[in-house]
Amino acid sequence: MLKGKSAIVTGSTSGIGRGIATMLAGESANVMINGFGDRDEIEQLRLELAELSGGSCLYSDADMMQPDQIEAMICESTEKFGAVDIVVNNAGIQFVSPIEEFPADKWDAIIAINMTSAFHTIRHTLSAMKNSGWGRIINIASAHSLVASPYKSAYVAAKHGLVGMTKTVALECAEYGVTVNAISPGYVMTPLVANQIPATAKTRGISEENVINDVMLANQPTKKFVSIEEVADVARFLCSSGANSITGANISIDGGWTAA
Ligand code: NAD
Repeated sequence: MLKGKSAIVTGSTSGIGRGIATMLAGESANVMINGFGDRDEIEQLRLELAELSGGSCLYSDADMMQPDQIEAMICESTEKFGAVDIVVNNAGIQFVSPIEEFPADKWDAIIAINMTSAFHTIRHTLSAMKNSGWGRIINIASAHSLVASPYKSAYVAAKHGLVGMTKTVALECAEYGVTVNAISPGYVMTPLVANQIPATAKTRGISEENVINDVMLANQPTKKFVSIEEVADVARFLCSSGANSITGANISIDGGWTAA
């Protein structure tokens, strides 16, 4: 479906981003993967995705907190692929704390990685997409773009902001064949979620099992984690011609969480 198209997926060495990068390669797109992790494992992933796509897969270690590194990643993609047609803003981190004790550096990092990095990727890629008459920007937000949970002030602020930016940019490029949408998953079992279980248990003074059943899945009426593939499937649809008229939307995949 995406042969001849090129994509960047931020934060794609793990979790949801990795799943979306794999989906895009499976649809024959060239893919720039990004994120941190073990270099040998990342190289293995890069080779696997290159083979899967039948095109090319590159890796950038750009830190989404650093605007100059984001720009360099986009320049490299444009140079080596010839264009950037699809941008998936997925990189994200979490930190859980009551706001009185919320470390200011964690606040800044969450806002930078989860929200401001999308501003930079979009501002450097949108003109070329508009000129080519086709583009897809997919911002991975969260159920926390629609509702709050205690102790996640920075994350909830960043995700609400990301959706505001999604709507605004969608309006700015609506006539150019470029769509801009957010996907808002509920809880997906990835390293990001696994890592916050001990911190949430400590902050709330409950067991890790109770965090899973009574905090995380308490919000999800299906009582199941969303799968990475389910998120990637929605991203696939947003890249298809069937989604040409879907823009400025925030698509929930949250097992009914925000319906409640
Ligand atoms: P994850 O921890 O598995 O993956 C995060 C990715 O971001 C990794 O590749 C990591 O290396 C990368 N990353 C982190 N900091 C970075 C930085 N400074 N620069 C570049 N890359 C960086 O997390 P995940 O659960 O797959 O989350 C992916 C996205 O989905 C995030 O935006 C998250 O907020 C969102 N999300 C996750 C869930 C969930 O339940 N897992 C739910 C809703 C939304």
